[in-house]
Amino acid sequence: MVVGKGWKKQSVASIQEVNRDEGEEKMSKVYIVGAGPGDADLITVKGLKAIRQADVVLYDRLVNQELLEEAGESARLVYCGKSPDHHSLTQEEINVLLTDLAAQGLTVTRLKGGDPFVFGRGGEEAEVLAARDIPFEIVPGITAGIAAPAYAGIPVTHREHSSSVAFISGVSKLGMEDEVYWEHVVKSMDTLCIYMGVRKLPDICERLTRHGREGTTPIALVGWGTTEWQKTVTGDIDSIVEKAEHVENPAMIIVGEVVRCRDSIQWFEKLSEAREVEVTG
Ligand code: SAH
Repeated sequence: MVVGKGWKKQSVASIQEVNRDEGEEKMSKVYIVGAGPGDADLITVKGLKAIRQADVVLYDRLVNQELLEEAGESARLVYCGKSPDHHSLTQEEINVLLTDLAAQGLTVTRLKGGDPFVFGRGGEEAEVLAARDIPFEIVPGITAGIAAPAYAGIPVTHREHSSSVAFISGVSKLGMEDEVYWEHVVKSMDTLCIYMGVRKLPDICERLTRHGREGTTPIALVGWGTTEWQKTVTGDIDSIVEKAEHVENPAMIIVGEVVRCRDSIQWFEKLSEAREVEVTG
């Protein structure tokens, strides 16, 4: 397909640009890359190229460590942390590090879990680079809000059950605190994919019912989606809090009729079970 060829050409050109003319003063570039949700194979080809050519890789907690093995032998790997309770580098320190490394003429790959622009603060980092005229590229990744339900057998849209989906945060300012925002999103969207919401699950369920969702609305929690530790729990708004006790973070909360599709199309956890049987049986 002609469009496909065009894409390929553009991608290769932009990656090669960085290493051109070894003899000349090296141009710095920062790649803000989505590593995908957990399964290392879900990174994009362009993201993988950016890791392979980096002088320095700055990576977050939820990035699959296997991907770091793709970096060159001389590449520096810098852990930036970012867990719900503890940041090993503050966002401000990360911003300073990014600009300092770029000022040294280095190729820097900033590797983030999922997609860098979906609850990943990639937008803020790009703003810092843009303000200092540092060349950068954004390499999107597969976000957990799509990948975790997909690996649990839940399509976020479906011709018969859902024609709209919202990606929302359980914790940001535009999340739990804003009643009007919740009312709007709960009433107008079919499927809700809620990030960072597990600890607030009772509050979230209460808000869903207050704004008109039936207690029987299906809901799923997918912990460690797309990894070998993936665990999915399903129920309805009235029952999920009790059932969710053993789901570990990181987890996605999926609300809506699409959750019922899992009954017939769940596949990934079945594969793991099959593998377990093969190994032990
Ligand atoms: N930029 C990331 C989201 C970072 S916010 C992305 O696009 O996916 C962190 C939240 O993402 C977690 O609290 C959790 O809700 C969700 N998350 C990240 N990885 C996940 C995974 N493997 N399975 C389920 N949820 C995940």
